[in-house]
Amino acid sequence: MSGIPSGTPSGSPSERFIVGVDIGGTNLVVGAVPVDGGAAQAVRTRPTEPHRGGRFVVGRVARMVEKVIDEVSEAHGVGREAFLGLGIGSPGPLDRDTGTVIETPNLGWQNFPLRDLLSTEVGLPATLDNDANCATYGEWWQGAGRGVSTLAGVTIGTGVGGGLVIDGRIFHGASDVAGEIGHMTINFEGRRCRCGNYGCLEAYVSGPNIAARAVEGIDLNPDSILPDLVGGELDRITAATVYEAAVRGDAYADEVLSETAKILGAGIANLINLVNPEVVVVAGGVTKAGEHLLRPLRAAVRKRAFRSAVDVCRILPAELDATAGVVGAAGVFRSSLADGPARARRPLDDASSVP
Ligand SMILES: [Zn+2]
Repeated sequence: MSGIPSGTPSGSPSERFIVGVDIGGTNLVVGAVPVDGGAAQAVRTRPTEPHRGGRFVVGRVARMVEKVIDEVSEAHGVGREAFLGLGIGSPGPLDRDTGTVIETPNLGWQNFPLRDLLSTEVGLPATLDNDANCATYGEWWQGAGRGVSTLAGVTIGTGVGGGLVIDGRIFHGASDVAGEIGHMTINFEGRRCRCGNYGCLEAYVSGPNIAARAVEGIDLNPDSILPDLVGGELDRITAATVYEAAVRGDAYADEVLSETAKILGAGIANLINLVNPEVVVVAGGVTKAGEHLLRPLRAAVRKRAFRSAVDVCRILPAELDATAGVVGAAGVFRSSLADGPARARRPLDDASSVP
């Protein structure tokens, strides 16, 4: 399955694209994806600079989209009619029906009509879905989960995001909350989480929480090289510092990592028993630890989840890396074409009618 063509030959009239937009708290990523599948092309990344306001971000994304369209048009000898629409992924919670971002602390948006503003600015129909759902869907459509029917995605970075693809479709639940794997309670009287709950998976295995757990135990481990790696400034320890120390043979850092794998393994075992997926894709910065993390993680899962569920489930690192969100957002738009126009809204005639 690795040789999926990235499009039909140059200049073919059947060559059509969807532009994927991945809006993050730090970066905006935009690229064009062939409607029949393939890698993201002409991918551009720019800082989000959310403090400059939602309208600024929309304007910046619109200019990125235009540049992507120009570049792909030139490379493939196609006109603007080859671009069918925009798939947008954004942090949520969202209202997918109205295309509105209800609230997102990272970006400071409230009831922000992102989909229609961007659609109008670019002059193409658009869809909006949650960024973690899009990343999971991207891995299902063109990444590590190609060809399977049911897949769960866990993205470990600053937070822990997740998504579910069930029978080839994103599972949204009754109010678009489904897939919040990072906020499953893993220890009912455990660490405080950003969401206000105690003992969430994220409160243990997100990058900052891996670092925090390492710092908390450092006094009891005077032989650890972790302080040396940050010139003694413990608040500079990150999850990456912990891996680096583990790779260099630091026993304490290795213990923090194997504890992380056990906790994450408990979370993924819950997920496997609940959803019975064929693939769990693990994505995000933390996966740079590679087999250091995945091997003990698979062992922890095998200990906890039902054997008949574990036996059919592969736990794989993500393949698309930084473009999963772009590919998945484009995939969401693509699936809206099959579903009819309900989700993909035409651009408004008059942008000023949007509050
Ligand atoms: Zn939480």
